[in-house]
Amino acid sequence: MYKKTEDIIIVGAGLTGLAFCSLLKDTKIKLSLLDTLPKKIYKSFENERHIVLSNSSKSILESIGLWKEINKYCSKVKNIHISKKNIFGSSVVKSADENLESLGYQVPVKILMNILYSNIENENNINIIHGAQVMSVDKGKEINVNYKLESIEKNLASRSLVFSSGSKDKILNNIFSEIIQKDYKQNAIVCELLSNKYNSDTAYERFTNNGVLGVIPRKENIWTLIYSTNEKESEIIENLENNELKKYFQNLMGKKCGKISEINNVKIYPLKMRYYKNFTNKNICLLGDAAHTLHPIAAQSFNLSLRDCAYLTKMIKKNEKEEINNFSRIFDCYHKERIGELERLVKFTDFLASFIHGGGFLKNSLISASLLFMDINKSLRINIIRYLLGINFSQALISNLKKQ
Ligand SMILES: Cc1cc2nc3c(=O)[nH]c(=O)nc-3n(C[C@H](O)[C@H](O)[C@H](O)COP(=O)(O)OP(=O)(O)OC[C@H]3O[C@@H](n4cnc5c(N)ncnc54)[C@H](O)[C@@H]3O)c2cc1C
Repeated sequence: MYKKTEDIIIVGAGLTGLAFCSLLKDTKIKLSLLDTLPKKIYKSFENERHIVLSNSSKSILESIGLWKEINKYCSKVKNIHISKKNIFGSSVVKSADENLESLGYQVPVKILMNILYSNIENENNINIIHGAQVMSVDKGKEINVNYKLESIEKNLASRSLVFSSGSKDKILNNIFSEIIQKDYKQNAIVCELLSNKYNSDTAYERFTNNGVLGVIPRKENIWTLIYSTNEKESEIIENLENNELKKYFQNLMGKKCGKISEINNVKIYPLKMRYYKNFTNKNICLLGDAAHTLHPIAAQSFNLSLRDCAYLTKMIKKNEKEEINNFSRIFDCYHKERIGELERLVKFTDFLASFIHGGGFLKNSLISASLLFMDINKSLRINIIRYLLGINFSQALISNLKKQ
């Protein structure tokens, strides 16, 4: 016998699953959140990966009262200096151009997870099951989710199901088709960099002949370096000793962020674009990296997911008030509402990732001209800022959140 309890089962308690549940806290909607990972993960601060949150994310997190706490750990990115190695022309995109406090907020992923987790840990309507590996799903009006907990097979039933299980969960393949994928044959090399330049609020984005190097200030004299490049250069970098690595990146970067004194925590991530055109199927919905994984060049994936979560939870809450319990209808409306923004953002990041990567005289000349044009054209800079902030996509959402 299946135990019928839940309104929504959520598979995956990464950033997306936690944010989705946080946005449904203080409702009567019954949620079960399952993840293979143990509880201790949410209390540990190892693995110092950072991400940049946009102003749309800030507004959403403010609307649920979490921003004040998150902001304590953020470093602000007020300006982005954009240039290409060995070519003439550069441009600075400034938060002041849009009268904003900052263009983005860099925060350690583990801190963000911890704050989101603590926010829902003891809620009556949210049942968190740790160490639960979802094995299969039986579709239907009532969905049955089969999972393994400490080698024992168990199941749960619900009226709807959300997969926020990241980009590697194979169960999705049986439920969703029409996946659009592109292997960029690039890797992102991410590390922590220490230099002799302190408390900068300018990030640097530099196009090299093979890739894009971003250096984003954290606190004090520490920076996040993220270099997305082709597989050949990434293999060369992977085999360098630490001292050679410092020299290599210093040469690519110049002296913009000062003299590099240390490089730590080098991690390599393969880069792919991957998304489902139909990210809802009746009463089942995909969210976060499960629905779409984008090239990190514009630091947008989780910011987009958070806007998705805000839209979907708003629709769920509205239907709850009107006592409409049809999740297939809610998910269908959600798909119609969000497919446009997803496709625009896919095009934007794919253009940046494909066009700007690589060299050649024609490409370099075009980029040089674009940088010069950008530097003298404020409205173009403002449009770029609006893309980075998520404003060009979700103006209505942001104004609504501000009115609340
Ligand atoms: C180098 C790099 C830099 C980035 N920088 C930025 C940035 O600056 N800004 C930004 O917005 N985004 C950025 N991103 C993207 C961002 O990190 C991701 O979009 C985000 O972390 C995805 O979160 P998620 O919760 O959707 O998926 P995940 O973090 O993958 O979480 C999925 C969860 O589901 C669980 N799970 C999977 N399968 C099952 C199963 N069968 N049963 C139970 N549990 C399961 C997993 O254990 C995991 O906890 C970056 C990504 C990379 C690679």
